[in-house]
Amino acid sequence: MVKRNKHKISRLKGLGVKYGATVRKRYGMIYRVLKRKRRCPKCGSIKFDRKVQGIWCCSKCNYKVASGTYDVSFEKSKSKY
Ligand SMILES: [Zn+2]
Repeated sequence: MVKRNKHKISRLKGLGVKYGATVRKRYGMIYRVLKRKRRCPKCGSIKFDRKVQGIWCCSKCNYKVASGTYDVSFEKSKSKY
């Protein structure tokens, strides 16, 4: 019997079969970074989310910070995509 890897990263459903494999793969990587659970640097709750492009906001204590489009990083971003 062949053992299957249970922790395989599943594909995202959003794009279906469109746009080609490479684009779907890149989109999946960025999307996962975007939707990752983050802690608020002020109050520590996990409700820290992106509000609009470049603005990250905690819905609990209303703390706002301007940062990257897809990730909160306070250092200069290296192009990894
Ligand atoms: Zn907060």
